[in-house]
Amino acid sequence: MFTIPSPLQEIETKAAKQAKVRLLVKRDDLIHATISGNKWRKLKYVVEYIKKQGIHTLVTSGGYYSNHLYAVAAAGRIFNFQTVGIIRGEEPGNWNHTLSFIRQQGMHLEFLSRKEFAHHATDEFLDKLKSHYGSFYFLPQGGADMKGVEGCTEILNEIKEPFDYLLTACGTGTTLSGLCKAATSNQRMVGVCVLKNEEEIRENVFHFTGKDCHLLTSYHFGGYAKVTEELKAFRHNWLQETGIDSDLVYTSKLFYAIHHSLKTGYFKPGSTLIALHTGGLQGNAGLII
Ligand SMILES: *Cc1c(COP(=O)(O)O)cnc(C)c1O
Repeated sequence: MFTIPSPLQEIETKAAKQAKVRLLVKRDDLIHATISGNKWRKLKYVVEYIKKQGIHTLVTSGGYYSNHLYAVAAAGRIFNFQTVGIIRGEEPGNWNHTLSFIRQQGMHLEFLSRKEFAHHATDEFLDKLKSHYGSFYFLPQGGADMKGVEGCTEILNEIKEPFDYLLTACGTGTTLSGLCKAATSNQRMVGVCVLKNEEEIRENVFHFTGKDCHLLTSYHFGGYAKVTEELKAFRHNWLQETGIDSDLVYTSKLFYAIHHSLKTGYFKPGSTLIALHTGGLQGNAGLII
């Protein structure tokens, strides 16, 4: 049911050829139809844990376009546990693709105003939920916990090819943390920030001493889920050139950053790059409403 290890695919682009680098894509987007990409990496040990402990309910949180909620809802359906999604924002008049999907998977939804949402991870709020749903496992927004980090270390363990750079899109930085944890000292891990949260990422990720971790911070296109005409055109051109589709929230920004950095000489000639395709393609349907 899960395509693990995920394929490693070599692609050729004009910019990579000119920069004299090899470009490979680790296709975590192909792991699963609904629990795609890094979301399965982050959930694997959580699911294993709650199953072993006999916990029946998982509570987590996210926004209207959350790929994390999408994956958790699908996992609950597949592995047979109850899921509750705490949603940032009031119930919208029109439900987008992501919200419709998670409800259809059987996730219970709790819409909170942005102000209330800021306090949803407190004991006080979670105790209130407990009186309603019984005991549960609380997974922080974006699957950002140590079990998630551990699952993401396995991405590197699967790669047998020697390489110099591995690049990933960065939301909470959980995936980048796992990669940095597993990296050897001659491999540079590069996170492309898709929102303006550089400080937060630095706090969360950069405590793996002796590891070469970098952030590219100028490819967020205005912020989380902000999309420009230039980005849309890039996604289209990249698909034409490589045959690989991407989502506008995360991986289009990752591939754009790679394409641009190839042109500015960021990568050493003769080196091998791996781009991690973290999936999330269903997010495009959520954006275009
Ligand atoms: C959630 C997500 C990310 C961000 O992962 P983090 O571990 O939170 O940094 C990247 N790409 C896609 C497609 C995602 O859905």
